[in-house]
Amino acid sequence: MNTDLPVYIGRAIDLAAHEGYPGHHVYNALLEKNLVRDRGWVEFSVYPLFSPQSLIAEGTANFGREVVFTETERLAFEKEVLWPAAGIDPSRAEEFYAVQDLVKKLAYATNEAARQYLNGEIDPKGAATWLQKYALMDEKRAKQGVKFIEKYRSYVINYNLGEDMVRSYIEKRGGTEQQPQKRWREFEQLLASPRLPGDIRQGQPPVITILRSQNFLLTQKGDRNF
Ligand SMILES: [Zn+2]
Repeated sequence: MNTDLPVYIGRAIDLAAHEGYPGHHVYNALLEKNLVRDRGWVEFSVYPLFSPQSLIAEGTANFGREVVFTETERLAFEKEVLWPAAGIDPSRAEEFYAVQDLVKKLAYATNEAARQYLNGEIDPKGAATWLQKYALMDEKRAKQGVKFIEKYRSYVINYNLGEDMVRSYIEKRGGTEQQPQKRWREFEQLLASPRLPGDIRQGQPPVITILRSQNFLLTQKGDRNF
């Protein structure tokens, strides 16, 4: 977690869901249980950060907030528990999140800043100005955003594009907000199997199912035939 800049109440549940439950912690625990321990695929004990796997990891971690809470449940928890605990008057919580949701729609402006900066079309200052103008960041956050792009490069797309791809994949398979059990099941299956972004874009079954259908013997511990 980056603590260079203050973290506000609007990020509390986001961060808990993203880093902990049902995000990264659960993702890594399920990969370890299903792939490393049950199947003996020791290569899954290593997590390559700069890899397609990170789109699934960040996308599911961001989408996790909507799996663990419906919007109504989350707002009720924020107003009744979280905001009073932080000493903040919750009477304008709905309004606060309505604005946050609108700002979130500008998230792809970050990808565009990264694209232009990494392509050498704009300099760091230009990228920071872009983020302030189109992603409504304040100056400090925009500068931090540019540093992130410098260090992690195209990794930035894993958060917003990843989240949208994961949501679309799960909802297409019936895991809508109205069907929370199905949503959980699809989410768990996505976390517990080896996937690539192309798999969820086309709504394909997991790699493992494809391999099994091609008579690869994958069900026994130690089999790693691909
Ligand atoms: Zn993350």
